[in-house]
Amino acid sequence: MTHAPVRTAVDILATAREQVLEQGAGLTREQTLEVLRLGDDRLEELLALAHEVRMKWCGPEVEVEGIISLKTGGCPEDCHFCSQSGLFQSPVRAAWLDIPSLVEAAKQTAKTGATEFCIVAAVRGPDERLMAQVAAGVEAIRNEVDIQVACSLGMLNQDQVDRLAAMGVHRYNHNLETAKSHFPNVVTTHTWEERWDTLRMVRDAGMEVCCGGILGMGETLEQRAEFATQLAELEPDEVPLNFLNPRPGTPFGDLEVLPASEALKAVAAFRLALPRTILRFAGGREITLGDLGAEQGILGGINAVIVGNYLTTLGRPAESDIDLLANLKMPIKALNETL
Ligand code: SF4
Repeated sequence: MTHAPVRTAVDILATAREQVLEQGAGLTREQTLEVLRLGDDRLEELLALAHEVRMKWCGPEVEVEGIISLKTGGCPEDCHFCSQSGLFQSPVRAAWLDIPSLVEAAKQTAKTGATEFCIVAAVRGPDERLMAQVAAGVEAIRNEVDIQVACSLGMLNQDQVDRLAAMGVHRYNHNLETAKSHFPNVVTTHTWEERWDTLRMVRDAGMEVCCGGILGMGETLEQRAEFATQLAELEPDEVPLNFLNPRPGTPFGDLEVLPASEALKAVAAFRLALPRTILRFAGGREITLGDLGAEQGILGGINAVIVGNYLTTLGRPAESDIDLLANLKMPIKALNETL
């Protein structure tokens, strides 16, 4: 019986350098798994390679995005990580934001240099009331603020996709959350395939696709690699990477926070699987990586950040990330490049 030769860390990194950095071809599922399994002693080298890949295939600009919750809490779905589900004993109560506050938030976001402003609602999918609110909000923002509007309103039907596209919504966020094989352990009230269907309709309607997920929800390294390559197959314009911040009262409230080295390895591996995408640091960064995490990530493959709140938990203040980008001499992506 013959065995495939064991590939060393040097081989694994050399392959990634040749294939991803030189040729721009993302890692396969097996190759992503090899990278995720690298020892911590290779982390620095791995992050440096991911950074080179990002600089070569995306450039030095960093996209800054603001996010606002139009409807918070009381969601009928049971995503086990989410404190906005109405099915768990979590402290987030249902609340709606009014249109003037939405426009004000968009103005404040634009002042930071952000080019994207994402309107989020904690729902399975939008009902007529929410669609009307979104239409009014998008129109008011487009009239008063120089910023692209994105939405994240759950699963859509074709009519809703068409209406959002007609409103001028530039990008739609809908996360696949985790690998297809792990999804039933995370959500039972809808399927991964239902999410995929929404993403396909969004793409076909001409909106940009923003799709990522959460790491550290009990998935194996194999499933993390599976997820990275399932995202690559979707070819999203942007991938927000969250790390689980276990919220009290949710079914995942007692899970351990991902170790920092594992989280950073995942950032680099996702960059190597998705060399051209906008890879965004989203929620859970502070608890997983601490204060130094932003810098390590932005020098390890990340090229987009969120300013302001992460919906239900506070992120760092906008200024600290903006200052960091200035210190690292990384320009904020300008609006005219995205129009
Ligand atoms: S992740 Fe979204 S769909 Fe799931 S419970 Fe939270 S708000 Fe609802």
